[in-house]
Amino acid sequence: MSEQLGTSGLILNEPLLWHKGKPGRIGMSIPTSDVPAAAIAAELLGPAVDFPDLSEVDVVRHYTRLSQWNFGVDSGMYPLGSCTMKYNPKTNERQAATPEIAGAHPMLADTLAQGTLRILFELQQFLAVITGLDAVSLQPAAGAHGELTGMLIFHAYHRSHGAQRHKILIPDTAHGTNPASAALCGYKAVPVPSDAQGMLDPALVASLMDEDTAGIMLTNPNTLGLFEERIREIAAIVHAKGGLVYGDGANMNAVLGVIDAKRCGIDVLHLNLHKTFSTPHGGGGPGAGPVCVTRALEPFLPVPRVVMDGTAYRLDDDQPQSVGRVHAFHGNFGVLVRAYSYILSMGEAGLKRASQLAVLNANYIKEQLKDVLHLPYDRPCMHECVFSDLWQQEYKISTVDMAKRLIDYGYHPPTIYFPLIVHGAMMIEPTETECKDDIDQFIATLKTITQEAATAPELLRQAPQRTKVRRLDEVLAARSPCLIGPSGDGDQ
Ligand SMILES: *Cc1c(COP(=O)(O)O)cnc(C)c1O
Repeated sequence: MSEQLGTSGLILNEPLLWHKGKPGRIGMSIPTSDVPAAAIAAELLGPAVDFPDLSEVDVVRHYTRLSQWNFGVDSGMYPLGSCTMKYNPKTNERQAATPEIAGAHPMLADTLAQGTLRILFELQQFLAVITGLDAVSLQPAAGAHGELTGMLIFHAYHRSHGAQRHKILIPDTAHGTNPASAALCGYKAVPVPSDAQGMLDPALVASLMDEDTAGIMLTNPNTLGLFEERIREIAAIVHAKGGLVYGDGANMNAVLGVIDAKRCGIDVLHLNLHKTFSTPHGGGGPGAGPVCVTRALEPFLPVPRVVMDGTAYRLDDDQPQSVGRVHAFHGNFGVLVRAYSYILSMGEAGLKRASQLAVLNANYIKEQLKDVLHLPYDRPCMHECVFSDLWQQEYKISTVDMAKRLIDYGYHPPTIYFPLIVHGAMMIEPTETECKDDIDQFIATLKTITQEAATAPELLRQAPQRTKVRRLDEVLAARSPCLIGPSGDGDQ
């Protein structure tokens, strides 16, 4: 047996359920009816539905096999930069599944929902302490949704000051969702190039900031995995011109218990609970992107707000300056419960330690691999490090080839070709939940792959070879999805 992780085991083919079914198979054994069959009017039955006939074992094997074609954090290391695919402790799943919590009806009167409102209220307070900001809305359902809410808050703030502004500064090291969220609110994104160190230059911000600019949206740590060192100077420049500072805090996993967003000069910040605070995520959800704001911006937060009067919790809609509702009910409640449970189980010291280890692990990988992979910004990184394929180009090997080869060795590839400002980028985020042995094995594997690039480049060009499917045409899949399968036997 190979010691290598990889996919060397049985990968069973699996047809579609429609092709697997055989007329007459059933999924349960019940006694033959001993009463006469009653006629049911055809209109009650409706049109016949073509469900396949299957046994219980057919169904169980079908879904179990499909699940084995998947790769997740629970199957192996998933160093997808910017996404924080860390292990999510199972206790948080368990708390979210508590029947009294999972089954609580969202339309219960406040007086009958004190327990769930308390969870929401206390989570708001925890997130305020964690970010250093004053007030929190838990409604947004994702990071990008938090950004959109933040932009609505910018808009409402400027309106309340009598003059609407039209532009917003967005560094080239910001996440791609930032300009999209700003544009959705009608702002024109003004790009701000970063300097040779991957940092924002306050002088450049000063030259671009004017009274028609609503503010700046910056990602910190930025998408190069670097900490914006001059963030306070930049915030002061933006504030002096009446603008606001938006902090994209999706990468909070690097700085829990370490930075105070308010003291950095940030007015609005979103967190990605699904990344930092224990929710299995991917493929578009589930998520939660709470927004945290300074006291001055609190009146603009979405309603209803979860507030406490004396000892009772209630939902407060009476906020005339609010941007309104951004999500049904209380947001993505199950994700909020996981975050609450995660924060309580980690404690203040535990959260800080998690960030310290996330940063240590990324720096360890950076140092171990910088002799074999080109490191465009050679300085201490935060929770992720960014390499490029510059040194592999002489063998006509690019980042995608190395990423696909990693699959053969049993790893989910890192983020590739992002951030855009690094040509052929490979962005590795190990997270704090990988132990040193596993990180060492990952490093050794990438070293092997860089050797293969020189000695057997065709291995990389043909990778992945040990998977169920090879290199898929990703564009075709997005442009003309085929939902039933080309040949109908489910085997590609
Ligand atoms: C992941 C991420 C986002 C977007 O978050 P979603 O929940 O996917 O919408 C925004 N900014 C940064 C820096 C991110 O890493």
